[in-house]
Amino acid sequence: MIILRKKCPCCGFYTVDSDDEVIVDICDVCFWQYDVTAHEYPERIIGPNGISLNDARENYKKYGACKIKYAGSKWVREPLADELPELYE
Ligand SMILES: [Zn+2]
Repeated sequence: MIILRKKCPCCGFYTVDSDDEVIVDICDVCFWQYDVTAHEYPERIIGPNGISLNDARENYKKYGACKIKYAGSKWVREPLADELPELYE
């Protein structure tokens, strides 16, 4: 079976289910909402996340969530074994 997943641009784990439809998934690991527009302009605050992708990446590194308020909450979790980048890259 081929697993089609996209990499979350915030935490870097493969948590985003991928198909040909518009992707509106929210990452289970860092709670970033996948947003192609925001991904093109990582320094800008665009779309549903309310935070720039660059800031979200920094927050994930420091707090394990795209926003400080999600740190340690039920909205974020550790990555699963089948979400690790080395399986896909
Ligand atoms: Zn993520």
